[in-house]
Amino acid sequence: MKILVINAGSSSLKYQLIDMEHEEVLAKGGCERIGIAGGKLIHKAHGKTFEILHEMPTHTDAISLVLKELVDEEAGVIHSMDEIDAVGHRVVASGEAFKKTTLVDDEVMVLMDEIAELAPLHNPAAILGVNACRAVMPGKKMALVFDTSFHATMPDYAHLYAIDYEDYKKYKVRRYGAHGTSHKYVSGEAARYLGRNPEDLKIITCHLGNGSSISAVKGGKCIDTSMGFTPLAGVPMGTRSGDIDVAAIDFLCRKKGMTMEEGLTYLNKKCGVLGVSGVSSDFRDLAAAKEAGNDRARLALDMFAYSCKKYVGAYMAALGGLDVIVFTAGIGENTPDVRAAVVEGLEAFGIAIDKEKNNYKNDGAIHDVSAEGSKVRILVIPTNEELVIARETAALL
Ligand code: ADP
Repeated sequence: MKILVINAGSSSLKYQLIDMEHEEVLAKGGCERIGIAGGKLIHKAHGKTFEILHEMPTHTDAISLVLKELVDEEAGVIHSMDEIDAVGHRVVASGEAFKKTTLVDDEVMVLMDEIAELAPLHNPAAILGVNACRAVMPGKKMALVFDTSFHATMPDYAHLYAIDYEDYKKYKVRRYGAHGTSHKYVSGEAARYLGRNPEDLKIITCHLGNGSSISAVKGGKCIDTSMGFTPLAGVPMGTRSGDIDVAAIDFLCRKKGMTMEEGLTYLNKKCGVLGVSGVSSDFRDLAAAKEAGNDRARLALDMFAYSCKKYVGAYMAALGGLDVIVFTAGIGENTPDVRAAVVEGLEAFGIAIDKEKNNYKNDGAIHDVSAEGSKVRILVIPTNEELVIARETAALL
């Protein structure tokens, strides 16, 4: 079975064609500048990279171009579109409308329109992606795979905010979380790697990238996560503030003459480690600046690690113990200093990292970086959200 995975953004569209028999990526790539002059498609297959410059006024044009490459004589990996058994679409937010992966039909797309305002930067783009695929591949089975689904198992006392309960019921304002496919994948991989039954494990998964979130996973199910109603909550991120007293926003808006909307853009785009350091949102730049003696870069890195550590502590309490900590995503997989800083000083809780093991050069494999005798295993696991989307889609069929 071959599954096409689509991750549509407002002006971009990433894809992978995966053969589920050996879970092998046959081709992958992405369209850039959809709807903007200078469209470009980067397509990777047969160990080669193909760059196609072509205008893509709409997402339908983009997906048409992708399909053309997939069946192309030189760059292609299939003979015809009929070989694609189904399409799996990544969707950021599900609200309470969808609890699990869902097959696309007209009724489902009406519901998708209704919940689009929950993730105004992401969900409308996913809808464009689905509609484009439906236009170009009529009759093809398609699934919506939600980033939030893995978090649907959080108990009510963990996912609710302490606001008027009637307002929660009416407006569905609550914690939904994000990066669910990644948390699901790496927690499952941790159990597999350790040869343990997921049912028996208490795991904290740290997805640390441009956006970062930390989850508590008990018996294979998410019981809490750091992101909230939107991906603005939790630990400080590249450009996002993470948790902050909302009264401080009102104060800042008044002082800086910002509307609420401008205040939210400020919190999403100008804060986080970029705002604190004044250097960059990229952890490689921050590490270099710290090395060169920049104290605000040092401060940003310290704030990030401290915030992650507090979530680890909180989730150990929520889980009633801990067996495994997993680090994943751009920072989690590539930055030994951050991993070390997050778990530093937690030896009393049975968490000890091995300095040497932790300093390995990323080779894309799973690494156990825990010290001899550490009760808690510390694993670095490369995430693979596309594979989860493909698996979920195949399972639904
Ligand atoms: P996104 O949330 O956009 O998917 P990523 O998971 O790619 O983000 O993470 C981006 C972050 O990961 C950046 O801060 C970057 O510094 C860090 N990162 C990515 N690759 C590397 C690398 N090879 N070495 C060090 N840091 C990296």
